[in-house]
Amino acid sequence: MTHFNFQEPPIPIEEISKFLGLSIVDVDPPPEMATPALHKALTTVPCWLERSEKKISVYKRAPKKRRRLGISHENTHFIIPYHVGINPFCSGADDPTSRKYTEREAFMGGAAMLFYPKLFIEDVLSTSSISLDIIQKLSARYDGSLEATANWYARTHPQICAIVIAEPPTQEEAVDEFLQDQFGLPINVKPHTPSPSARNWLPASGGFREEINFVMQVKYSITSIRFPKWIPPRTRIPDTSLIYKTFVTGKHCSGEIPASDLGSSSRWRYNAECMPMGDGSSNVMALIWLPDKQMDLAI
Ligand SMILES: [Zn+2]
Repeated sequence: MTHFNFQEPPIPIEEISKFLGLSIVDVDPPPEMATPALHKALTTVPCWLERSEKKISVYKRAPKKRRRLGISHENTHFIIPYHVGINPFCSGADDPTSRKYTEREAFMGGAAMLFYPKLFIEDVLSTSSISLDIIQKLSARYDGSLEATANWYARTHPQICAIVIAEPPTQEEAVDEFLQDQFGLPINVKPHTPSPSARNWLPASGGFREEINFVMQVKYSITSIRFPKWIPPRTRIPDTSLIYKTFVTGKHCSGEIPASDLGSSSRWRYNAECMPMGDGSSNVMALIWLPDKQMDLAI
């Protein structure tokens, strides 16, 4: 990246492809094939690399931010020599939950191209607070999707913060859970991690514990290097949480999230801002952070 000496975002991703000797070819299926299902599939996976032909094919109708992320992802596959013989159709170039090592590498490398750390970290350091508003501005400035920007923000932030993407349980999981609760049937139930500890903090009598439902779960989380906790996927989130309030109201909410809402036994509370993802899913993005005592001392 130093070769280009980029001074200002957005990073011209296609220029990097050109430098690598890759051609970018826009593809558009013929009208008789252009079904909504195909459009959805091609929007999820808008780019694919044909290594031997040094070519990245891009779905012409993919949104611009997806296109940019997809191209930077494929650039990374091309640069890493042992990424040969992999399935050219990546299952979501912006999916940080991918279990495949090569996909995670391409995901990280692609993000580092799009949000060139030399510029991005400088931008983050020039802000005095942690907020979703800053992430939205960075998303516009770097021309990257909100989710990818938020993830990179948390990953590179020098202070104590994290991004949590929460989702309602899938229908299948809800049914499994119902069967387990009602009949004690361990049908296909994957373990929840960890056990819902929020309930444990409430008085044992008075029926409080039974009144809390765990209606959402962590899809994934990305934490800054100084964040003290690991928030595992599938951690259940109670309906008393700010995250659930955001899900129900469909509105931006700010306040506090007790660590126990995210499966921790710690008694501290995070500052939090939550917003609906607005990507057609019912998912909620939560930005959580703790005050930075080291920073306070420096002042
Ligand atoms: Zn890939």
